[in-house]
Amino acid sequence: RGMRVAVVGAGVSGLAATKCCLDEGLEPTCFEQSQDIGGVWRYTEEIEAGRPSLYPSVISNTSKEMSAFSDFPFPEDFPVFLPNALLLDYLRRYAERFSLQEHIKLGTTVVSIRQHPDFATTGQWNVVTETGGKQTSEVFDAVLVCSGNFSEPSLPLHSFPGIGRFRGQYFHSRQYKHPDVFRGKRVLVVGMGNSGVDIAVEASRVAAKVTISTTRGAWLLSRVFEHGYPWDMVLNTRLRSLIKTNLPGPLAWWLLNYKLNQRFNHENYGLQPEGRCRVREPVLNDDLPSYILTGRITIRPGVKEFRDSSVLFHNCPEEEPIDIVVFCTGYTVSFPFLEESVVRVENNHASLYKYVFPTHLQKPTLAVIGLIKPLGSILPVAEMQARWVSRVFKGRGANVSPPESQNAAQTGHILFGLTFDEVLKIEWLLYMDTLASFIGAKPSVLGLLCTDPWLALTIFFGPCSSYQYRLRGPGRWQGARQAILTQWDRVLKPTRTRVPAGSSSSFPSLLAVVGFLLLLAAVVFGF
Ligand code: NAP
Repeated sequence: RGMRVAVVGAGVSGLAATKCCLDEGLEPTCFEQSQDIGGVWRYTEEIEAGRPSLYPSVISNTSKEMSAFSDFPFPEDFPVFLPNALLLDYLRRYAERFSLQEHIKLGTTVVSIRQHPDFATTGQWNVVTETGGKQTSEVFDAVLVCSGNFSEPSLPLHSFPGIGRFRGQYFHSRQYKHPDVFRGKRVLVVGMGNSGVDIAVEASRVAAKVTISTTRGAWLLSRVFEHGYPWDMVLNTRLRSLIKTNLPGPLAWWLLNYKLNQRFNHENYGLQPEGRCRVREPVLNDDLPSYILTGRITIRPGVKEFRDSSVLFHNCPEEEPIDIVVFCTGYTVSFPFLEESVVRVENNHASLYKYVFPTHLQKPTLAVIGLIKPLGSILPVAEMQARWVSRVFKGRGANVSPPESQNAAQTGHILFGLTFDEVLKIEWLLYMDTLASFIGAKPSVLGLLCTDPWLALTIFFGPCSSYQYRLRGPGRWQGARQAILTQWDRVLKPTRTRVPAGSSSSFPSLLAVVGFLLLLAAVVFGF
């Protein structure tokens, strides 16, 4: 019999994990507690306990070409950034294309996952699930935890003195659905993550006044980036990554500062992230700068204290009258079905090698997928993690306990952060390359330069779309080359709706010519 794998959750990570198990000839069973697939991307008007909850206006922060699974590009007529319904549509198409549905058990909650008594020799797990009030216990050879990290809101009321006496309304962003609740009100949004800014922007169209309170500030990026191209297709390239990782720290920091302040000076808009070296997740929003400029939104420092019907900010003498507060204070991660000894999460840190494998298990038969928050789309990352893990389960992938994780196991205190602040220090592209190299799927730019120079240039200078990781190695996909060479066509298709198709963008070809010269120089001078 084949190796049986329990996959917990049928969101982005669970679907990718199920598909990758099938690719490796494993036998996945994917357990989904709700009645449908899609995880965070499945919008429901009602807020369901234990499930993520979206507001209807959520649009993906990453472009469709950078968000696609590596062997399944988005349809060319889909917009460049995806409204949540279209992202769900894509996931449904993915499930159908790779016949995942028959491996998914809907309405089935994973109650507990415990090591089998023979774990030390077999690596097996006892998995207890519940369907319609009836519990079932099964033995699995391996487990993929894909339960996501947006189900449990973090509402740290203790950090907000006086909230008990505040007479207005307050709620967590998870509770938010429609802006009508803000009509005519004075609104305070606490926390400047992506939820906070999205909600503030929506509220400001109907509210009397909107204020965002931020302790740390944030970099603000626009989906519409240089020359109108999607931000991630411009920023996530191998050339940029090479430059960034080879520049001395202060120079790289200066460059980042310069780049991010080019559109507008963050300091002048009250947004500058605190502390020169603080790295935090950028906020993606095209409206906020103009809304600040037009007075629809005001940015304030952290909350010092709530009063009956007002709020006092740090370093601001006057109190501000407020009717309604939205705490956009993020989410906490937990694995209620696992024992703490398997994966312990403390202060958003977990001891996971490469954010995937617990460092101290005798057998590498349990992995966590999609917990990392990279500066780039999570879809290809979760998929790459799943490709690596399914190879490891199959006994074909090494690198589960290289030196650094052994150190972690020995000293017991080297942890791998799960917050953006930590994870951002890891380049999206480097992380993808590292995992790809574990399974032999990392593209060789120099090798390709000899055999397929046009493709090599596109890979090096163009966006690092995930199709690059299907050119070679296990899971090689015949369509990968074509998908890479046509990535800009799929970006332009939904917007070039008036200009004749023939006169296509000069961006890729100009890039390629300049790129070719640069690469030639790089090879000649041993760059
Ligand atoms: P988040 O990114 O975790 O931000 C939470 C913010 O709350 C913090 O940055 C901090 O803001 C504030 N905060 C947290 N603890 C606090 C405390 N004790 N006291 C005061 N302030 C505190 O949460 P989120 O915005 O809900 O986003 C969650 C995830 O969903 C993110 O990965 C985000 O990118 C994603 N998301 C995506 C979209 C989209 O794709 N369109 C939309 C929404 C969210 P300050 O430092 O500013 O005070």
